[in-house]
Amino acid sequence: MKYYILFGPPGAGKGTQAAAMVEKYNLHHISTGELLRKEIAAGSELGLKAKSLIDAGALVPDEVVEGMIESEFRTVKGVSGFLLDGFPRTTAQAEALGKILGKTGESVTSVVSIMIPDDMIRERIRHRASIEGRADDAREETINNRIKTYHDKTEPLVEFYKAEGRYREVDGTGTIEQVRQAIFDLMDRL
Ligand code: ADP
Repeated sequence: MKYYILFGPPGAGKGTQAAAMVEKYNLHHISTGELLRKEIAAGSELGLKAKSLIDAGALVPDEVVEGMIESEFRTVKGVSGFLLDGFPRTTAQAEALGKILGKTGESVTSVVSIMIPDDMIRERIRHRASIEGRADDAREETINNRIKTYHDKTEPLVEFYKAEGRYREVDGTGTIEQVRQAIFDLMDRL
């Protein structure tokens, strides 16, 4: 099994590119943000707890998303691998992922990172807000907190995976097609 981590700041285009990657490489897409939004829509206890944190631009507790990931790994069959989108988002989650995969003697295949500067993050989120209507895209304060959370808690993972020799990066500032091609070129060389 291959385990790819799709990495990048909010609004980098992970969801858009994930769709193309999943199809080309026969992967199962796991977006922790999507899974959490489903819990919220279903009105589950977990969803209720997650909603206030997400709306504040904060992260939900590590154990919650780690449990979601492990259960997806266990239940989804018939694919060549998994594409993790929005996970791991903290060093603790990255360590937990290593342990989960280690149980079956497996490890992260590669991180594919889509990088864009902060001003583009704001621009992309504003644009998405007008199309998708996500609550956490609507408020300036939430967006600012998500960008801060990304720099404080998630960006250290770049160094974490560089140290493991598993970090690869593409320029996310081009068109959807340019970024997709850069990702395919990178994955074909892995
Ligand atoms: P984006 O890619 O725009 O940051 P996501 O859909 O990936 O948005 O996530 C939306 C929100 O869900 C995050 O801001 C965070 O509150 C929560 N979330 C998603 N993934 C995780 C995670 N791995 N750990 C903690 N919280 C998460």
